[in-house]
Amino acid sequence: MRRLLFEGPGQVRWEDVAAPVLTSPRQALVRPLAVATCDLDIAALTGRFPLAGPYAFGHEGVAEVTVVGDAVTTVAPGDQVVVPFQISCGDCPPCRQSRTGNCTGYPPLSTYGLGAMGGHQWGGLLADLALVPDADAMLVPLPAGIDPEAVASASDNIPDGWRCVGPQLARSPGADVLVVGGSSGPSSIGLYAAGIAVALGAGRVVYLDEDADRLDIATTLGAEAMEGPPPSKVGSFPITVDASGSEIGLRCALNSTAFDGQCTSPSVYLDDPTVPMFSMYSRCCTLHTGRVHARAAIPQVLDLVARGFDPSVVTSSVAMWSDAAEALLDAPMKLVVRRTGAPTPPPSETVGYASPSLP
Ligand SMILES: [Zn+2]
Ligand SMILES: [Zn+2]
Repeated sequence: MRRLLFEGPGQVRWEDVAAPVLTSPRQALVRPLAVATCDLDIAALTGRFPLAGPYAFGHEGVAEVTVVGDAVTTVAPGDQVVVPFQISCGDCPPCRQSRTGNCTGYPPLSTYGLGAMGGHQWGGLLADLALVPDADAMLVPLPAGIDPEAVASASDNIPDGWRCVGPQLARSPGADVLVVGGSSGPSSIGLYAAGIAVALGAGRVVYLDEDADRLDIATTLGAEAMEGPPPSKVGSFPITVDASGSEIGLRCALNSTAFDGQCTSPSVYLDDPTVPMFSMYSRCCTLHTGRVHARAAIPQVLDLVARGFDPSVVTSSVAMWSDAAEALLDAPMKLVVRRTGAPTPPPSETVGYASPSLP
């Protein structure tokens, strides 16, 4: 099969490798149909985040199930499914508590398409086939009527945006929300958070950024665009999000968090910023950081999309599968690569459990 390999900033190429095969009855093989870039992919492609190549690329996508093991009961060949970027088992204590990103059934941080950080053995989703080790636990069937291209980021970045505002708005319906965006941060996650906050009926949703394109997207999503670099404070919001990836943005979000409010940061800071602990203490301000537990949040995201939230507003470019390598080198904010044409029948050697695991 063919898969796309990330070799380093600005360097990707297709390669031919052996197709994965089922080695246990809980597994499935899926054929990715629409694959999105994650904000971290773009940071790796541009050299902003140090991920060492080579590794199999792509970890957000909707796929078609091609083969399932005998123990799989919730999906069948032909089903379209969201493939969570994190590998999870569904049975361990963290999985049972919806903390699927910290599954203890597999090595810590196991993911598709992030090289050594996620474990090379899972491969990437920009490939003809991907192995899903616990199909019943991981795969989420795509509801009828939802375009795979629109929700290609439902594996990771859309749930990441949802967790920044969704649980908070469930506790505080109608609360005001501030999202601080910026070029050093997870740009699409900040926009998804703003759009989801609007869709969930937040009060005022302010999106702060210096980038005109992202401000336009925020406006289209129904948020109030505020242009400029982050000031020290922009007001008082019960729910804040720092998607700027910068210390100045984080401090703005924290200083703008209301009494008893919560700031969530989906950003990865490479420079260990300092935070205003004294004023946070004075306001009983909570800062939550860490990776999303994607699998647990995907059903809520798909439900929002079914009820009218359109994440495709955030997509900045779409390319055909065969043009993926060239399209990636442009490093658009959110690229969706989609496959066209009839499904490929699975190769015969993918049936049965006798063969060894993934390359
Ligand atoms: Zn990601
Ligand atoms: Zn688990």
